[in-house]
Amino acid sequence: MTLAERIATQLGRRVAVIDRRGHIGGNCHDGLNDHGVLTHTYGPHYFRTNSPKIKNYLSQFTEWTPASYLVNSYSYGRHWSFPVNLKTFCQLVGRTASQSEFEHWLNAQKIKIENPQNSEEAILSQVGDLLYKQFYLGYTLKQWKRHPKDLDASVCARIPVRTTADDRYFSDDFQALPALGYTRLFESMLRAGGGGIQLFLNSDYEELKSQVKYKQLIYTGAIDEYYHYCYGELPYRSLRFEPRSFTRDQIRVRGGAEAEKGLWQHVLQINYPNDYEYTRSVEVKHVTGQKCENTTVVYEYPADYLRGRERYYPIPAPDTKKIYSNYLERSKVDTNVRFVGRLATYKYYNMDQVVAMALSEFEDIKAFDGMNPRR
Ligand code: UDP
Repeated sequence: MTLAERIATQLGRRVAVIDRRGHIGGNCHDGLNDHGVLTHTYGPHYFRTNSPKIKNYLSQFTEWTPASYLVNSYSYGRHWSFPVNLKTFCQLVGRTASQSEFEHWLNAQKIKIENPQNSEEAILSQVGDLLYKQFYLGYTLKQWKRHPKDLDASVCARIPVRTTADDRYFSDDFQALPALGYTRLFESMLRAGGGGIQLFLNSDYEELKSQVKYKQLIYTGAIDEYYHYCYGELPYRSLRFEPRSFTRDQIRVRGGAEAEKGLWQHVLQINYPNDYEYTRSVEVKHVTGQKCENTTVVYEYPADYLRGRERYYPIPAPDTKKIYSNYLERSKVDTNVRFVGRLATYKYYNMDQVVAMALSEFEDIKAFDGMNPRR
């Protein structure tokens, strides 16, 4: 959508956006469910960025609701402050403790690993075996159906470890959600493109490509599918969501500190590393700012990716990288196709990284006025 908006508004070119799904916004799509609650259709999308450029770009299309993404981890029968921070340590020792005491304790726990090669090493080197087993091992096995040893260090290293009492899930400078939701943000980008952007929903690119005349193709689908799996299938993880909605009366009967605010859980997200088949329960109403009597908590179950299911996560690991490298080499030859986004580049990107990638691709397109093959 970023590229469509840029090309239409900045270069005055006509753009056809083709999506297999019946809606815009890809996995960022959101909307009101049957209970009137604004939910994220494809799992929680917590916008955050350190880049003023990305923030400024998107701010042309939306106002923001500042968000504090607070997460707990449910492990060994109780809720823990998570990601690991001073509050977690205080819970562990059952009393108040200072930052320096925690640092001292953590240093004794850490396993010395110079250059962590995988997610297990990344976590052991940051927090040691005790917290690894309490918070990470079970979650990762459930989420990826792989041992953390068989995942790149970057996967678990996404989660910060802090010795301060800062218990936010992310450390980025800017953390907020589009005030009216992601779908409205994308609609606003489409509107900015005016008549320059034509939308083809419920449409398969393979079926349309002979009917739409184009000079440059920007492909954001899965790269293995684009090449008809000629080097084999890239593995992905999929998800299944189980929403449970609650009325104002149910919330009141349940009680708790959050009930006054029409909320069910005590925090936005609860992770379950060692219990249940789901990995997390998310009540996005904590951060959307929506005023609504009902609420919805979504339980997230990891699932194998099989054809026909949605792809959610590329799997960052040496063996999958090997398969992807064949597709990457092949794509370099196809100079009139640009592969952009999580699926097309097989990278576990956050939303701001994808927008950054699209903006940088746009600079390249602009340099050639959009019409010539990429370098
Ligand atoms: N992770 C974990 N325990 C947690 C949360 C995350 O071990 O309580 C690991 C797990 O491997 C997960 C990765 O860290 O896939 C990244 O977590 P994040 O919450 O960023 O995942 P996303 O929101 O992208 O699904």
